[in-house]
Amino acid sequence: MTSLLGHYIDGQALSDNERTVGVSNPASAAVEKKLAMASAATVARAVAAAEAAFPAWRRTPPLKRARIMFNFLQLLQQHAEEIVAAITAEHGKLLDDAMGEFTRGVEVVEYACGAPQLLKGEHSKNVGPDIDSWSELHPLGVVAGITPFNFPAMVPMWMFPMALVCGNTFVLKPSEKAPSAALLLAQLLTRAGLPDGVFNVVNGDKEAVDALLHDKRVKAVSFVGSTPIAEYIYSTGSAGGKRVQALGGAKNHAVVMPDADLDNAVNALMGAAYGSCGERCMAISVVVCVGAGTADTVVEKLRRRLQALKVGAGTDSGNDMGPLVTRAHLDKVKSYVDLGIAEGAALVVDGRDISVAGYEDGFFLGGCLFDRVTPAMRIYREEIFGPVLCVVRVENQEQAMALIHDHEYGNGTCIFTRDGEAARYFTDNVEAGMVGVNVPLPVPVACHSFGGWKRSLFGDLHAYGPDSVRFYTRRKTVTQRWPSGGVREGVQFSFPSHS
Ligand code: NAD
Repeated sequence: MTSLLGHYIDGQALSDNERTVGVSNPASAAVEKKLAMASAATVARAVAAAEAAFPAWRRTPPLKRARIMFNFLQLLQQHAEEIVAAITAEHGKLLDDAMGEFTRGVEVVEYACGAPQLLKGEHSKNVGPDIDSWSELHPLGVVAGITPFNFPAMVPMWMFPMALVCGNTFVLKPSEKAPSAALLLAQLLTRAGLPDGVFNVVNGDKEAVDALLHDKRVKAVSFVGSTPIAEYIYSTGSAGGKRVQALGGAKNHAVVMPDADLDNAVNALMGAAYGSCGERCMAISVVVCVGAGTADTVVEKLRRRLQALKVGAGTDSGNDMGPLVTRAHLDKVKSYVDLGIAEGAALVVDGRDISVAGYEDGFFLGGCLFDRVTPAMRIYREEIFGPVLCVVRVENQEQAMALIHDHEYGNGTCIFTRDGEAARYFTDNVEAGMVGVNVPLPVPVACHSFGGWKRSLFGDLHAYGPDSVRFYTRRKTVTQRWPSGGVREGVQFSFPSHS
């Protein structure tokens, strides 16, 4: 029996007579749900609801908007397990890992509760005789969010809590591979007291995305997903006059220096490369080992750890790694393993022949490890987005950093070392937006902003944190004069200089 998932528009669950796609459970491969794919007309309906809700929401004091976020925060805590279970059922990741992403999303809601402080603006008294001036932060109007499959709760929460407390109304288009978390969040927002139409969800694919991109009522778009789509969203949205931030793919390098604590480094690399089956935009997919001795030791330690890696259903807490999201994605990742062999890399651990008892049809792949990967290989240059780690051998730190500099992506990176000078040189000069020192996944906390460099982000402002206030508001600067004593001045034709 498959259930039908639809949209959430104007405070109501809704599904029109639209085409549907199946949503499968990656552990069993069973198609458990059908998802309605919004037509352009359904998207227009959601945008109309958001536009109608905007005037009253924009005038709602930030303190009241923050109170609704406080209510939402409490409901999130009460419904955490339900949301986490929905993530695991559609994405496949372990329940603990799903709780981790949920918690990081909730941190942005906590940050959004500080709206009155964040939206204060700036004031200057006496900029001229009897003249005061101040800058105000105004909402943009209807804002759209388009999100990927790999963080079904966290990435939407990177966007809408801040967009909403800034006074915007929102239309979210989640990934069609993992849509349930977004629908649950929408219901909780209504229960938290959010007025109807302020937050809407449309499920769908390119048709829905294009309808959002071409709708003049949508003033800004936040996107997270793969680089080709990010580039398309940025160019199409900005050509239509929208403000766009589009976060794309990654190939995150970890540099292991010869002086590093290699046991700690390997522990960190295991989680960062194979956690969530490598389906994280901040996953480490390349280890750059400085010195042949470092490389030999790291590869051997990784090999041993990979042989003990427990792969199975995300609902079983004894596992380390779940399945990939779809059969098509499993086939794509496996094809990269075939490619790496053909390109001449040394496959140290091959995870292709895995079978999980009780889940024989699931989309499982064991951890794979390639040694002696070179920058010319496609397995090095392209994002694989699976449990495939590439080891590149170099002789010194400069060569390691040159690799990162020359790569098309610049999302996250990290260095493992005990040498403060090497670490400082790395953080100062490396070409990436998020940098870790002995921290493999340097995902910024909610009061900082998240974003990569180069082709990992199109646009100027990063997600959540202080940049999100800048992205979701526009500035108005008022200059006001109340002449004292009723003084009248003559006409002035020169440019006002307050001199
Ligand atoms: P994706 O680009 O395939 O899809 C993202 C969104 O775009 C989905 O909502 C999807 O429906 C929509 N979409 C897909 N094809 C489209 C098209 N042709 N036209 C218009 N819209 C389209 O990404 P995904 O596979 O869901 O997610 C994985 C990717 O996301 C990886 O590349 C990963 O690195 C990236 N990602 C990046 C970040 C980051 O912060 N930089 C975070 C998470 C994921």
